[in-house]
Amino acid sequence: MHIILLGAPGAGKGTLAKMIAGKFGVPHLSTGDILRDNVNKKTYVGNQAKEYMDNGKLVPDDIMIQMVKGRVLEEDCKTGFILDGFPRTIRQAEALKLIFDELDITIDAIFNLEASQETIIERLSGRRTCKNCGAIYHIKNIPSEVEGKCDKCGNMLYQRDDDKKDVVKKRLMVYKTQTKKLISYYEKQDSFCEIDANKKVDEMFVEACKDLGKACKSG
Ligand code: ADP
Ligand code: ZN
Repeated sequence: MHIILLGAPGAGKGTLAKMIAGKFGVPHLSTGDILRDNVNKKTYVGNQAKEYMDNGKLVPDDIMIQMVKGRVLEEDCKTGFILDGFPRTIRQAEALKLIFDELDITIDAIFNLEASQETIIERLSGRRTCKNCGAIYHIKNIPSEVEGKCDKCGNMLYQRDDDKKDVVKKRLMVYKTQTKKLISYYEKQDSFCEIDANKKVDEMFVEACKDLGKACKSG
């Protein structure tokens, strides 16, 4: 199963991706998570990416394309994967098409998560993340059992630096000027599905599963 998730920062891609990955047993490839991991470990890529991320800018295409190419060739991606956060530019989408063609992969679903500006701001400002296991919470919508502590591993939750107000504004601007174009790039494909991301995550998940059922039956 191969899925691409599109949508603004804060639309809920990461949360939905984790639910789909859990249900269908395929890895969740979040370029944001991979980058943050590299930044924490101070790898060569991490050191290059950090400044862009801190400023809400996109990490250069060449770095991202290399990174994703390497990741999808790993063993656990043999049965499929969910891409969350990639592609984010037309150039990345074109590179991805080449990778898919080369590996003879067909896309089962391209989900575009459409959320209002209010939903996005509300989700990003309340988001809390576990640095240890990557679990995502929201102070109101998906609270952890014990405040500030991860249900899954007990680690402390934190607010991502780029979820702070000024950087959020920049990320949304980058989305509007660069990433939104991907909708017109993909929307004519049969596997393109629109998901109303103003709904609760559980409802989004049900919608996505329904769409996948259709996509799987007809494919
Ligand atoms: P969100 O979807 O909430 O914006 P991510 O965790 O996906 O957050 O990404 C965080 C940051 O990582 C982005 O603001 C950007 O700097 C960088 N990044 C992630 N994916 C890409 C990509 N495909 N191309 C360029 N930069 C990326
Ligand atoms: Zn955790």
